Amino acid sequence: RDFEAQRQKIEQFLQTVDHKLLVMSGKGGVGKSTVATNLAVFLSNQGYCVGLLDVDVHGPSIAGLLGLTGLGLNVIENRIQPYQYAENLKVMSIQGFLGQPDAPLIWRGPMKIGIIRQFLGDVDWGPLDFLIIDSPPGTGDEPLTVAQTIPGCQAVIVTTPQEIALADVRKSIQFCRQVKMPVLGLIENMSGFICPDCGSTHAIFKSGGGEKTAADWNIPFLGKLPIDPGVVTAGDAGRAIDSLTSHTKEEMQQIVERMIR
Ligand code: ADP
Repeated sequence: RDFEAQRQKIEQFLQTVDHKLLVMSGKGGVGKSTVATNLAVFLSNQGYCVGLLDVDVHGPSIAGLLGLTGLGLNVIENRIQPYQYAENLKVMSIQGFLGQPDAPLIWRGPMKIGIIRQFLGDVDWGPLDFLIIDSPPGTGDEPLTVAQTIPGCQAVIVTTPQEIALADVRKSIQFCRQVKMPVLGLIENMSGFICPDCGSTHAIFKSGGGEKTAADWNIPFLGKLPIDPGVVTAGDAGRAIDSLTSHTKEEMQQIVERMIR
């Protein structure tokens, strides 16, 4: 009976969300959480109501990237109150439930499924234009739960240009096909470094592999983001997009425009 009640709450919430996006990557460390956070901040800056949900129970990064680590969560009348990062950007992460930010969570599949369902059914999100979900890398319990619990969810896949990352992206694409989750598009992150001294671009992790993979697999290519030390500074300071170079901001803006088109 509890499961059925939860299912109804999830369904009611999802009916009030226009776009549901799952940000995936084949590998860790390619910038998936960073891109998910930037997408959420850019969309909310454009006036959309955005919910950003971190379902990476083992390595939640979103709270840190937005400077929310260590803040507890409020529960009002059995509804969990998400963090209000900005007027129209709400954020939810497992981090808020952890007493100590550095303690590991040692959970098996069914517990992860349970918490993801709670994030959807028991959180006071209110109506949203976009729900952006940051999943752990790969094709495990978390993305599978999201795909199976959220009808109409679309995947945004993040990769670096190098072959070792692309090999795993092809698995993510095939995963989406198997679970019938449409791929909204692919983003190539860490695509070239523009030297601030000489202005020339250095393709540290190569360049163009993401675009080619998107073409080969017939999925939309959303754009490239450069390697930008400002991304690291902003993330470590918990200040989202503040120190991004103007070039990175322009590329991000274009990605967002292609996404909402
Ligand atoms: P993932 O979620 O894929 O594991 P993260 O978003 O945590 O990856 O990013 C991994 C590391 O790379 C972080 O230190 C982040 O600051 C850095 N990073 C991500 N994207 C960029 C970029 N475009 N330029 C520079 N550093 C980046």
